[in-house]
Amino acid sequence: MSDAIRVRFPPSPSGHLHVGGARTALFNWLFARHHGGVFVLRIEDTDRDRSTEESIESILEALRWLDLDWDEGPPAPGYRQTERLEIYRAHAERLLAQGRAYYCDCSPAELDAQRQVAQRRGETFRYSRRCRDRGLTQGALRLRIPAEGETVIQDLIHGPVTFDHSQLDDWILVRSDGGPTYNFCVVVDDVTMRISHVIRGDDHLSNTPKQVLCYQALGYALPEFAHVPMILGPDRSRLSKRHGATSVQAFRDAGVLPQAMVNYLARLGWSHGDQEVFTREELIEYFDLKHVGASGAVFDAAKLEWLSQHWIKQTPSRQLAEAILPFVERAGLRPPGDLDWLARAIDTLKERAKTLVEMVERGRFYLEAPRTWEPRAARELFTPAGLDRLGLLAERLEAVGEFDAEHLEGLYRELAAEGGLKLVDLAQLTRLAVTGGTASPPIFQVLALLGRTETVGRLRAARAAGRVHGAAR
Ligand code: GLU
Repeated sequence: MSDAIRVRFPPSPSGHLHVGGARTALFNWLFARHHGGVFVLRIEDTDRDRSTEESIESILEALRWLDLDWDEGPPAPGYRQTERLEIYRAHAERLLAQGRAYYCDCSPAELDAQRQVAQRRGETFRYSRRCRDRGLTQGALRLRIPAEGETVIQDLIHGPVTFDHSQLDDWILVRSDGGPTYNFCVVVDDVTMRISHVIRGDDHLSNTPKQVLCYQALGYALPEFAHVPMILGPDRSRLSKRHGATSVQAFRDAGVLPQAMVNYLARLGWSHGDQEVFTREELIEYFDLKHVGASGAVFDAAKLEWLSQHWIKQTPSRQLAEAILPFVERAGLRPPGDLDWLARAIDTLKERAKTLVEMVERGRFYLEAPRTWEPRAARELFTPAGLDRLGLLAERLEAVGEFDAEHLEGLYRELAAEGGLKLVDLAQLTRLAVTGGTASPPIFQVLALLGRTETVGRLRAARAAGRVHGAAR
């Protein structure tokens, strides 16, 4: 493992992990894995009002689901900002002792009044530096930034980005209540965690000059910066809840496989020629920052669905059988004990299902006998003659030697010939009786999977129900 490359993912735990955050995590993880570096997970919980334990748990769970394993981070101690207050304090003291920071006792009311004046003039508020040379010994601690000149960020994605110091001010490092501010913590953490590359959303780009000036005041070398463009909704505004589901958990609960999600997220802003489908190994091999685009990527739900279907098809059915169990339970069905049997049922369903939820819906009849039959088809097929045929089918299926798809098809062909019927009509009658609908995987495979007793029972139940309805007509 090369310790030279160290990246981090530092979520603020104030909700679920969203696709934007997940993509940032993935890019960092891929960058670390590509270079044999270290992926650090840090919890930015200094904002105690907004941070919750449930959010931390939910974010870690989403990362585990995506299989983005971290080399350093919780549960090891020292990776939550609230555990690092001593480190921030020591750095603040150093800046103060070196004259790079100073105390300010301007009251919130005074600052507010100045902010309002600036607003009225249509200017951005910048602190007046009133306390710069007053030699105060308490208050809020501010960073003394060079009044003139500019700071240029050499961004690996955007190229050089220049910020004039006239746009910046002596920002607060530590509030008067002793709480370190967000930007200060990020700098101290990135330095002390020896982060080599800061890869984050470009909504943080405006924080970067402030952070760079703080690195410089502390006398630390800068990391590389790469600001990844935001994910956009179809209307090209920043992706938000307005555009529908955006949390990783929502896609997991919709039955998208994690490999499909990872594949999709990787392509949100990064490309490798025109390749769309990637295994995790390919992503690790090909990922680079050079091919991250500088403009926002549009979230395309249809493409995610397409990849979801692709990865369902690619995944061995035995593996899908395990993955689908929670979805079976959630649909109110009893999960079968025999996973090999479930895998064989999945074999018949996986070509068409876009998500695991859809697969459960399409395959519900495997786990539960129908209690209703599609009314239109029932009117058409459960005629007196049709019901007689169901009786005959039940009898013959009870007696047939081998109950596998091949023998069943043979038997149906015989019966069709005997009765002067089309195979497809008998098959459709059977399908309606045993599945309750008119669309299902190949019917002989379905019957073989249901087994003799279940199949015969369902044929008889449909016949009985058809009689009752027929009599009521
Ligand atoms: N905690 C920040 C966030 O969740 C990330 C800060 C950073 O990457 O520097 O948006």
